[in-house]
Amino acid sequence: MILGRKQLLINGEWRDGGGKPIPVVNPATEEVIAEVANATKEDVDAAVQSARAAFEGPWAKVSARERGRLLWKLGEKLMEQADAIATLETQHNGKPIFESRQIEIPASVECLQYYAGWADKVHGETVPVKGNALVYTRREPLGVVAAIVPWNFPLMLAVWKVAPALAMGNTVILKPASQTPLTALELGRLALEVGFPPGVLNVITGSGSTTGQAIVEHPGIDKIAFTGDTSTGKGIMRSAAETIKHVTLELGGKSPNIVFADADIDAAVRGATVGIFYGKGEVCAAGSRLLVEASIKDEFMDKLAARAKKMSVGDPMDPKTRFGALSSKAHFERVLGYIETAKKEGAALVAGGQRADIGTGKGYFLQPTVFGNVTTDMTIAKEEIFGPVLACIEFADVEDAIAKANGTIYGLAAGLWTKDVKKAHYVASKLKAGTVWVNTYNVYDTAVSFGGYKQSGFGREMGMHALDYYTQLKSVWVDLN
Ligand code: NAP
Ligand code: MG
Repeated sequence: MILGRKQLLINGEWRDGGGKPIPVVNPATEEVIAEVANATKEDVDAAVQSARAAFEGPWAKVSARERGRLLWKLGEKLMEQADAIATLETQHNGKPIFESRQIEIPASVECLQYYAGWADKVHGETVPVKGNALVYTRREPLGVVAAIVPWNFPLMLAVWKVAPALAMGNTVILKPASQTPLTALELGRLALEVGFPPGVLNVITGSGSTTGQAIVEHPGIDKIAFTGDTSTGKGIMRSAAETIKHVTLELGGKSPNIVFADADIDAAVRGATVGIFYGKGEVCAAGSRLLVEASIKDEFMDKLAARAKKMSVGDPMDPKTRFGALSSKAHFERVLGYIETAKKEGAALVAGGQRADIGTGKGYFLQPTVFGNVTTDMTIAKEEIFGPVLACIEFADVEDAIAKANGTIYGLAAGLWTKDVKKAHYVASKLKAGTVWVNTYNVYDTAVSFGGYKQSGFGREMGMHALDYYTQLKSVWVDLN
């Protein structure tokens, strides 16, 4: 299906961008399905002016409760149009329609409505001080927030930022990834439909190196909320330093999933596969390093390989498909490159490793891939692959597991499998990660904050703690003498 040409949403109006339009490719069919505008520096400037004017003007006059009501309505509208928007999500990303329709859209709706509830529940305090003064605090919005998001959960990761930002009274400029811009544009359209004033949510498409960079450098933006690559995040922090912007970063991971010998082995095998293969492994928190206790390694690896081989790759638009196409050609080739490197470095390929064909001869489909006998010095044990490739490493005991689990630059998430309650809590306390899953993996809830330790970033998304990153505190002193 050809969706035509898409424009930028600035100040409540659709307009062309100044740059050369960017084609959007369906990774399952390799067809160009749409073209999106490519915002120039001037377009970014127009978006900032519109967001600033809305922030100072109409949006400032909207009550907190009304902001909440608008967010709630946006959630309702998104649910009403879930089928069409889920289809777009699958078309530009390659993920199964089951995931788009049954998981990602409902999670996005929940997030919008969760923060709708917070809009009128964040407020200041009075502070006892010495002397005769009334001191109170105000929780004020930051101003213009730019949300820059990647291609793996294009709509949901946008909502994780847009919802708390708007709930707290900020205005937003959203820049989706070039590969997956279509659902962010739909979010902007729906926001207008439900009555957000023009300029409160602007959606700017364009390439990271030009549009993204212009956003990061713009002095009129107060905060950058970024999800993406650790290396991009470093550059964003450097650029944002020039104008002391607030920055939150949700970056990459190489998350360990630790299986102790006393675990429920079949549950752990299922958890290991869900941990790496959900979302084609294009999940920042993917359990991409499986740490297995030496005494159960052989049994575990046999079961794991059998399960991975049974998983079938299919047409993302088929509701029965649970494993779709990788998101782009460049990414697909990069993942294949890691598979070759792993073989060369001596890892044992126990499942997958090849391009998968769904019968069309087209699309960036890869078999779910598992490597055994991986050692901590190998490339696939260290670098984020962001694809369906699992590196299995053995460990000797609890302390060895903790040391290996923490032995990366990342710290986004971790999983552990054991029936021993004491061991579970002890290991959970020692893992340097923002999320630890015990006897489960890859579960999320909009009420539970999520984010990184170490080079996986800082700041938190979801839950009440995300609100801290979209407000600033003012102390007001009133002399009573
Ligand atoms: P990316 O290359 O860093 O891109 C992310 C976003 O930043 C895209 O919108 C991109 O635009 C834009 N961008 C690129 N260069 C920029 C620049 N110089 N200035 C401003 N914006 C710029 O990341 P990706 O490859 O799309 O996504 C994969 C990464 O995201 C993985 O490392 C993954 O772990 C991480 N991730 C983290 C989380 C989390 O919550 N921690 C969640 C999901 C993904 P273009 O698309 O035009 O390049
Ligand atoms: Mg990239």
